[in-house]
Amino acid sequence: MVSKNRRREIALERIYRLFELAEKEFGESPGRSRRYVELARNLGMRNKAVIPKELKAKFCKRCGSFLKKGKNAEWRDLGKLVAIKCLECGFSFKKGKALAGKLDGPEGESIKF
Ligand SMILES: [Zn+2]
Repeated sequence: MVSKNRRREIALERIYRLFELAEKEFGESPGRSRRYVELARNLGMRNKAVIPKELKAKFCKRCGSFLKKGKNAEWRDLGKLVAIKCLECGFSFKKGKALAGKLDGPEGESIKF
C-alpha cells in the first residue's frame, strides 16, 4: 500500500516530467504540449498534488495552453511582478518576478529544480 504522501510525490515527479515534455514538444507541436499540460493538471487533481508555483507561469489556466514567452505569451515587467498574457485566449495573470526569472532560461533548456 502506497502512502498518500508518496502518491503525491510520484504525481509531482510526473507533473514536472510532463511540463518538460510540453516544453520540448512546443516548437514542433503546440497541440501536443497542450495535451501534456492537461495530463499534468489532471494528475494534480486526482492525487491532490498542487501544481508547483513555478509551473503555473507556464500554462494558461483558462484555455490550458502551454505558454512560451515570446511565442504565445506576452510578458510585461511590472517591477516585482510580471504580467503574463496568453495570446491564445487573451487571458492575463500575474506572477512574482523571482519566479519568472527562473523560467527565463535559454531556448530549449529544460526546467531544472
Ligand atoms: Zn489562454
